[in-house]
Amino acid sequence: MRVVIAQMKHETNTFSPVPTPLARFAGEHATPPEGADAYQAYKDTGSAIGAFIELAEEAGAEIVLPVAASAWPSGPVDDAAYEHIVRRIEAAVADGCDAVLLDLHGAMVTRTHEDGEGELLRRLRAIAPQVPIGIALDMHTNLFPALAHNATVIAGYQTYPHVDMFETGLRAGRAVFAQLAGRVQPTLAFGQRPMLPHVMRQGSDDSPNRELQARCKAIEMEGALCASVFVGFPNADVSQAGLSAVVVTDGDAERAARWTEELLDLAWQARAAFVYQPEPLVESLARAQALSAQQPAAAGPVVLLDHSDNCASGGTMDTMTVLGAILDAGLADVAAFAICDPGAVQMMMHAGVGAELQLALGGKMDMPAIDLQGSPRSVKGRVRLICDGRYRNLGPMARGELNHMGPTAVLDTGKVEIVVISRQVEPHDLAAFQAVGIDPARKRYLMLKSRIHWRAGLRRLASAVVECNGTGVCTSDYTALPFHHVRRPIYPLDPL
Ligand SMILES: [Zn+2]
Repeated sequence: MRVVIAQMKHETNTFSPVPTPLARFAGEHATPPEGADAYQAYKDTGSAIGAFIELAEEAGAEIVLPVAASAWPSGPVDDAAYEHIVRRIEAAVADGCDAVLLDLHGAMVTRTHEDGEGELLRRLRAIAPQVPIGIALDMHTNLFPALAHNATVIAGYQTYPHVDMFETGLRAGRAVFAQLAGRVQPTLAFGQRPMLPHVMRQGSDDSPNRELQARCKAIEMEGALCASVFVGFPNADVSQAGLSAVVVTDGDAERAARWTEELLDLAWQARAAFVYQPEPLVESLARAQALSAQQPAAAGPVVLLDHSDNCASGGTMDTMTVLGAILDAGLADVAAFAICDPGAVQMMMHAGVGAELQLALGGKMDMPAIDLQGSPRSVKGRVRLICDGRYRNLGPMARGELNHMGPTAVLDTGKVEIVVISRQVEPHDLAAFQAVGIDPARKRYLMLKSRIHWRAGLRRLASAVVECNGTGVCTSDYTALPFHHVRRPIYPLDPL
């Protein structure tokens, strides 16, 4: 038995100015890993591709691993990068195989295709019309019909923060191996509702997504092979952005369709609870100071979420609005993770550890799609640390995967320790702080450029959480996002 296993993961923020060349998928190398290198990178990790490898080895299958390409969210993917990845998968399938297992994101937009995954599936079906194709998808999938029509099995993450990537791979992969063994005949139903849930209201610990995902699990207990609700990724101006559902059953098309409609109806009924109302930044910081004053330092930090500039939603990670307000308000004993400013890191490396310097920090990237100019902030401090920015996730999210922040430095203003990095990485793992010698549990405040994923590895440290409305291309304020391509009407952009 020969199984093609591949990964192509990118969540595209069509408003993001951050470019997406092939190098963004390549970590420290020139191109994404292939073959033995890809196997080494993902074997025994908490990823969907790691689960596919485990299942294929259990089945005694020959594994063909043409490419494992994953990039942090950013703007539309360069055509050359897309073709590099897709042609390797096409070639592996063209050589012949019994099944294809794909670890995809589900919200990839390229310069040419608004539906990167659907285009991949169209091409694979042209090569191998009958081969079973099982797909693991991120909960932020914007589901296009081409993907659902051409897949045999689809399973989506049921948690946000995404701490079940591995389990999702198992759900998709097991259904495909059961089909290969002649035990099941997967039948897939899918559908959408015209709604764009705000990311800040999508956490699976929070209602209404908690109940939606619980119902998915219950439907699987009742006999579905896989049941998934995709809350969608709204910072993407594409026709099919928004909420969708997929249910796969063993040969029962009517039941798959009925369950899909049930999930979609539940989501639609809860649509108002997916709307996010940001609080003015000045009020948030005052509230944070009041919260901090009410408790001993040992209670743990008050987390200040700079949620409009989260790099795991395509943020530049260099807007200075929230950090600037923290500096202006005089908050002390703060760690800020992180500002992405490679030039500032180089200046700090040149100055050396212990040196004092004044920097025009952050604000290097303009954001023309939302009509925002980059605005650096003058910051004075002492260089406390310089490092290579590599760390391996402790988990529970993406456990065991390697991160590359690039050359990294910590600037200490006396009140705020600012982590300055050269490649965007979202702080969702304790190891990110360990890499820069900061114990986040001992800080009064933690400023995180994150929306929901920080909860995976850091929430247990927090005494309180304050959402801080800054600036950036992953704002949850839809009035700041010029939508032109998403299908209309759609809630809450239009009153439905
Ligand atoms: Zn996601």
